[in-house]
Formats: sequence, C-alpha cells, structure tokens
Amino acid sequence: MLSEGHGASGYEAGLARLMERQFSPLADRVYADRFGNFYAEKLGSPGKHTVMLAAHMDEVGLIVTRIDDRGFIRFTDLIGIDPRTLLAQEVVIHGKQEVLGVIGSMPPHLVQVTQAGKAIKIEDMGIDVGLSVAEIREVVEVGDTITLKRQLQELLNGVVAGKALDDRAGIAAMAVCLEELDRMKFGPKVVAVATAQEEVHMRGSVVSTFALDPEIGIAIDVTFAAEANNKLNIELGKGPAIALGANIHPAIYRGLVDSAQSARLSYQLQPIPGRSGTDAWSMQVSRAGIPTGLVSVPLRYMHTCVETVSVEDVVSTGKLLAYFIATLPEDLEGFLCF
Ligand SMILES: [Zn+2]
Repeated sequence: MLSEGHGASGYEAGLARLMERQFSPLADRVYADRFGNFYAEKLGSPGKHTVMLAAHMDEVGLIVTRIDDRGFIRFTDLIGIDPRTLLAQEVVIHGKQEVLGVIGSMPPHLVQVTQAGKAIKIEDMGIDVGLSVAEIREVVEVGDTITLKRQLQELLNGVVAGKALDDRAGIAAMAVCLEELDRMKFGPKVVAVATAQEEVHMRGSVVSTFALDPEIGIAIDVTFAAEANNKLNIELGKGPAIALGANIHPAIYRGLVDSAQSARLSYQLQPIPGRSGTDAWSMQVSRAGIPTGLVSVPLRYMHTCVETVSVEDVVSTGKLLAYFIATLPEDLEGFLCF
C-alpha cells in the first residue's frame, strides 16, 4: 500500500522496493539515481521527445533529538508537521529496527486550569515505546527519523484517509497514467519520476529535471481542498485541479484543459499567482527553462495522518495525464509556441 510505506524527506531509501513493485510492471525500464529519485521510463513511438512526470514520494516526518532519563524519546519536526496534530498518535521510529511508539498526551484531569486549551510545544512531547532507557538506547539513536503510522481507511463514497497521501496520491496517479498508456498509442518517451526531498524545497526534482532535460514537465501533487474550517474553492471528488499562473506554461495548461474536456473528465481550475510550492516550481527553471504544468489531487487535512482524498480524483488525474500525452502533436515546438 503506497500510503503506508515510510520515507521522510531525505530518508526515502525504504520506499525503493515499494516503487519498484508499483512501477516495474508498467514501465520499460526502472532505475534510481544517486540522489534517491526513482524513475520509470515508458517508450513511445517515435520517442523523439521526453515528457517528464514528477510526483514526490517523501513524506513529512520527525527526528529524534534525545532519549530522556525516564525513557521517553524526544523529537523535533523535520519540516512541515503542525505539532497540534501529533498528540496521541502512533508513530514508527526508524532505528536499528523499526520501533512502534505512541506520542503521549496528558490526561485532561491533570492539565492545570491555566494550561487548559493551550497548544503543547513539540519539545514538551515524548514518544513512549514501552522499553526501558537501556533497551531503547540499543535500538534508537539521536538522528533516527520518525514517521506517522496509520492504516489507510476507506470512508464512504470512494474517499480514503491516511498518512502520506501527500504525495503518494500523486504517485498512484502516475501509475494509473502509465497503465492507461499501455492501451494507447503515444509519441514521446514518458518518464515518471518519484522524486525525493520535495518537502524540503523540491530538491529531487531539481536534479531529476536536469538529468532528463525533458521537452515538457508535469508535476503531480496534492492541493488544499475545502474542509470544515476553510472556504476554499477546490473540492474533493470534483476532479483534478489544473493549475495556471506564472509557474505554468500556458500551452500545457490549455492542453490539459482541452484533454479533460475531450476525454469527458471533470476537472477544476486552480489559479496560482506566484510559486506553486510543488515540483513544478523547480522544474520550470531547470536548465534553460522547461515548459511545465501542474495537476493536483484535491486533499483535506494536509500533513496530518488523516489526509483525505477521493480515489476517483486520483484515477481521473492519471487518465487526464495519459490522454494529454497520447494526443500531443509530433511538432512540440509549434504546440509550445505562445
Ligand atoms: Zn506534496
């Protein structure tokens, strides 16, 4: 299960086998680079041009800072987790072996009146793994990473909730795209990249875009969907969000919208005035500039262990990408001209 694999930013090695299992049957060749990016290449005919797809495989995580003298593991945020969402959660510590733990939360009876309702700081939290101090020190060290643990839950109506759906939902969409391409005729070489270290400034896509030098790059990520406590326009279950704005090449935006309409797939528009905060941002300015697009799966509760998406949106995202690729004209220069 993609969402249940563990790989905090910079520590994605544990995901390689999962990616291989996912993509080997769908690609002509799979390989990894020394940075930790994973590539699945599918050859089109004549295969003159390269279309790069990028979805990040890393997830938000924590890191061990010390083991206190009562046996609680202290930690800090690697990047991107809101400490308010951590109390009473299950985690996995990636030490000499994987150790399951829970982040403790003080019983309400013991919380002093002056502290009630106040957020607890991350440095005041501790992970309980049930071992003595001496036993813990044998398996866990300062610097070990910690990821959230949560089984993917099926809610009603094809909606699922779990951890790391940012951006394993994007990885799943890339897999759907390659699967769809099996049944289609398409021209370019397609390289689906599961990028490393996106959550720490899109670093995996910097090196993979440079390596591939594609004619077209499309990032597939998740985007904030409307939930109980916000009034955002993008909604779950209404199809992928196609981005437009300075980060996006206008011909690719138009091509994606045309593809969605021709393939009768529902889609939403997402104007992004500045930086997109996704792999599209780094892809666009790689080398001499790469024409870049961005398609996002609507997601609720980002960077928590109950990230929620509609499976239908994930599938539509993959289908949209496949249709876009299969209908690209051979004259890409003309297509990209604006
Ligand atoms: Zn993401």
